Amino acid sequence: MKVVEIILYLSKKIIRVKIGFYAEYAKNMYTISCKEAGQMDCDYVAKGKTKEEAVADGLNHTKKEHPEDYKKMMDSVGEKGIKAELMNMVKEE
Ligand SMILES: [Zn+2]
Repeated sequence: MKVVEIILYLSKKIIRVKIGFYAEYAKNMYTISCKEAGQMDCDYVAKGKTKEEAVADGLNHTKKEHPEDYKKMMDSVGEKGIKAELMNMVKEE
């Protein structure tokens, strides 16, 4: 094998590993935008490696930062309902 061929072979291998890493990372990112959930003045984006994690993060955030809306939603649809709504808003990044 010539030196050039070895370098080409190695760089191809490295690129493949990098692409694999980013694909894995991207595959596991789920987000919920608070703005899209109706909080127009909030820039928070809930994140998680699974849909459930993103929903849990969004739920915690709503509890802490939008307690009045959280209470309203709890009264009308309950925690199960809120989770179901958040689940519909999860985006895969
Ligand atoms: Zn928010």
